[in-house]
Amino acid sequence: MNSNEDYKRLTNYLYKTRKYLHEACNELNIDFSRVDPTVLENQISTCTHCGIWSTKLIPDLDLNPICSTRAKLIGL
Ligand SMILES: [Zn+2]
Repeated sequence: MNSNEDYKRLTNYLYKTRKYLHEACNELNIDFSRVDPTVLENQISTCTHCGIWSTKLIPDLDLNPICSTRAKLIGL
């Protein structure tokens, strides 16, 4: 997948959900096999604690990316 537009659509679609990436691709008619995970990761990735897709993950004390909700809970 090369289109920035597709990554944008994926990002909006996944945001604050726990959808599987391949499901989201199916539903958006995006070819899952052509999604470059490293490109997508620059825009959105999943919280290692709750599995929610977030655009603003921050590292916890073990440097795992976590969402802001989780960060507040553990006092970061
Ligand atoms: Zn989280």
